[in-house]
Amino acid sequence: MQLRIPGPTPIPPSVIDAASHQMVNHRGPEFVAMMRDVTTRLQACFKTTQDLLLLTASGTGSLEAAIVNTLSPGDRVLSVTIGSFGDRFAEIAEAHGAQVDRLRATPGTAADPAAVQHWLATHAPYKAVLVTHNETSTGVTNDVAAIAKVVHATEALLLVDAVSSVASIDLETDAWGLDVVTTCSQKGLMSPPGLAAVSMGPRAWQSYQSARMPRYYFDLGKAKRELEHWATPATPAVSIIFALQAALHQIDDEGLDNVFARHRRVSQRMRQGIKSLGLELLAAESCASDTVTAVKAPAGMHVATFLETLRADYGVVLAPGQASLAGKIFRIGHLGYVDDADVDEVLEAIGQALKSQSVLAGA
Ligand SMILES: *Cc1c(COP(=O)(O)O)cnc(C)c1O
Repeated sequence: MQLRIPGPTPIPPSVIDAASHQMVNHRGPEFVAMMRDVTTRLQACFKTTQDLLLLTASGTGSLEAAIVNTLSPGDRVLSVTIGSFGDRFAEIAEAHGAQVDRLRATPGTAADPAAVQHWLATHAPYKAVLVTHNETSTGVTNDVAAIAKVVHATEALLLVDAVSSVASIDLETDAWGLDVVTTCSQKGLMSPPGLAAVSMGPRAWQSYQSARMPRYYFDLGKAKRELEHWATPATPAVSIIFALQAALHQIDDEGLDNVFARHRRVSQRMRQGIKSLGLELLAAESCASDTVTAVKAPAGMHVATFLETLRADYGVVLAPGQASLAGKIFRIGHLGYVDDADVDEVLEAIGQALKSQSVLAGA
């Protein structure tokens, strides 16, 4: 089976083994050693020396944690959104009472840092700017370094959804001055779903002091205090921390730069192969993601039928389009535990399935 959706991603054998470890006391010495190891290695993936808090939640939980630990109801927030996950980040802020303005881009394109700069110049002040590093719904990577520069010319905090980029696409939390960065276990980190991670910089902690959105389970101040003795406020997903530890060791064995290079190579191979099949990509090459490829459905293709053919006849599982892109694209996840041979298998299956009459609605 080729599970090539943008998460959950396949997990390597060492991670499968680690996930089946017997339970340990989550306040005992084995857990302490593991938390220290996992936290340190995650900081390396985030390229940060700042606080890195592990939460038992999915990626969406990490976005909620970013919001409720830095903002108050009524705060003005700018959402720079280029797709469904950018929209979700905005909706979470709104659900907690923030006043959110949206700066959108056409699906398949990246946010233009100059447009963000112009918007900020004409609409500031904002308490925070929300941005997605890699928009999984369209297969587009934003230039977060450039966006951070223009945001930091203002007082606003920069909160970054890096769920589908951490440990696959280079992200420099400290060098780019990102105040809050979030991710989760089941994408580039090659682990089962259930863990989220959030980094908090000094400016984010300053905002934490005055932030009044209700928080309890996701209170990062509590998580930070517990982490001083390598513990968590509530019972964590112990099995997934075992799994994540194994995955982080595998990432370190390969070397983070080699991991990034592999994702770059694999994504180029995928896009090249898709074009060779006569299909069109949603994103321009200049902003195409190293972790997710969105392919336009050719005229006559019924996407749901096509994906079902791929699954049932070829054992290849891909993802449909979301929201306004439903029925118009399909998406291939190539992040985490992936290499050239996986790309070739996926491309071969797509080529075969395209020949099958049943994928063409009118046929
Ligand atoms: C997957 C994803 C999320 C949501 O993660 P869940 O674990 O499904 O809650 C958020 N943002 C991005 C960019 C994602 O790819």
